Amino acid sequence: MWSLLLRKLKMGRLTEKNGNSLTPHMASNLPLKFRKSLQIRHLDCGSCNGCDWEMAALGNSLYDHQHFGIDFVASPRHADLLMCTGPGSTQLLNAARETYEAMAKPKWVMAVGDCAINGGVFKGAYATEGGIDGILQVDIKVPGCPPKPDDLIKALLEFMGKR
Ligand code: SF4
Repeated sequence: MWSLLLRKLKMGRLTEKNGNSLTPHMASNLPLKFRKSLQIRHLDCGSCNGCDWEMAALGNSLYDHQHFGIDFVASPRHADLLMCTGPGSTQLLNAARETYEAMAKPKWVMAVGDCAINGGVFKGAYATEGGIDGILQVDIKVPGCPPKPDDLIKALLEFMGKR
């Protein structure tokens, strides 16, 4: 734990501070029907749970994601977007691929937090893939350790063409 903390202090932030990264063609080609509602399946790919707690805050009365037509679903078969947190631990590789495979097309992937984007504090660790980029094609990246719920809701609304 201490070595991780020291490494984090030495490394600093690994990602840009200036907001979300949305693959441009994805934003412009998003079908109109997805601008009204978006169903999300969350997958914890080995996170410390920090990102997951911020993501859970989207459901509180301040952010209230359901007001925007955004909802979390239990089955990937109902999901449009796979939201991944964590660095992509090797134990989760098959689960991540199978979850993605189970989703109907068109489908998108969102990497939440520095870990999901490039491994974050777990970068180089033997049991991780250094982000989910190597496993799945990522369409939206929200940096931060963890990212604020503000950033998450903004990225989702931007993706839906509501901002
Ligand atoms: S980005 Fe930070 S908060 Fe999120 S899973 Fe990694 S270490 Fe935890």
